[in-house]
Amino acid sequence: MMRAAVCHCSLESHRPRAGARRVLLPLLVVSALLAAACTASADEPFQSVSAVSGSDDGGTTDGAPPPDPNCDPDDARPSRDPGNETLPTPGNMPEGSYMRTIQDQGVLRAGVAQDTLLFGFLNPKNGEIEGFDVEIAKLVAEAIFGDGEQIDLIPIQSADRIPGLVAGDFDVVAKTMTITCTRWGSIDFSGVYFESGQKVLVREGEETDIDQMPLDTVLCAASGTTSLAEIESRGFESVSVPGWTDCLVEFQQGRVDGISTDDTILAGLAAQDPFAVISEELLSEEPYGIGSSKDHPEFTRFINAVLAQALENGTWEALYNEWLAETLGNPEIPELTYR
Ligand code: GLU
Repeated sequence: MMRAAVCHCSLESHRPRAGARRVLLPLLVVSALLAAACTASADEPFQSVSAVSGSDDGGTTDGAPPPDPNCDPDDARPSRDPGNETLPTPGNMPEGSYMRTIQDQGVLRAGVAQDTLLFGFLNPKNGEIEGFDVEIAKLVAEAIFGDGEQIDLIPIQSADRIPGLVAGDFDVVAKTMTITCTRWGSIDFSGVYFESGQKVLVREGEETDIDQMPLDTVLCAASGTTSLAEIESRGFESVSVPGWTDCLVEFQQGRVDGISTDDTILAGLAAQDPFAVISEELLSEEPYGIGSSKDHPEFTRFINAVLAQALENGTWEALYNEWLAETLGNPEIPELTYR
């Protein structure tokens, strides 16, 4: 098995550290101050109600907040309940809500991938960022404005997702983002809109059973991801890079033995490499949610109502069929659950 002899300067090579906890992101939180000025109302799911972030007790080593104590580590999916209220009319968002702020700013600012075939990629033929995640973000724009094209698609890397949301650089993140309790400590998630799982991509003819792979197998993953944390926790040697296509370059130039991340992302990478094969078994479950700031939970409930509607009226399935069915096969319909 090949070893990564050289890591050029943009790469971070990680020797596995047993029991090391990967703390993803630094964070500044101000929402607790805002919370004091607002009142909660379970009856008005789309009204502005500030979050209590609960995040400033220094529970982790680099200043990031601790995992959300209300999150079940066995199932981080349950999100904020949108209730039974119907969505407000597009273009008429409730006064004082974050949706109204977005309406007034004229576009929904969405952090998306531009290097992930199928989910968020820059189509070289038309210069547009396209994919399933992009369409999911457009559903939110459509519900706010009545026009899904009133959206500013901001290309980001995985490690930018949480800092960008916390800093207010974008209103939502729709970028193959796994819902976890650690992340719930920093940001809000919608309910699950896609069920993914982590796998490994290696060269044709190599071992694809993760349990049989020697621990000196060098696996590439993007930094700031659950994928990197998973391979490190299993004791593999890892190389981290900013984006998933960077991993493909490392793989194709022979500097790593494989790539490990979600089956969705690997499917897009494998489509660009005829000698790549993907493992069968899952290393972990990776349920995707739309990320948003903790400062305006009414927006999270609104997004959940948008997703519920898309799942009910067939829009979700139509998008799946348009973008993913050919590559990923029959859909696993996600189930929205609430706390
Ligand atoms: N689902 C993984 C995560 O959220 C990897 C996805 C990505 O890097 O876009 O960390």
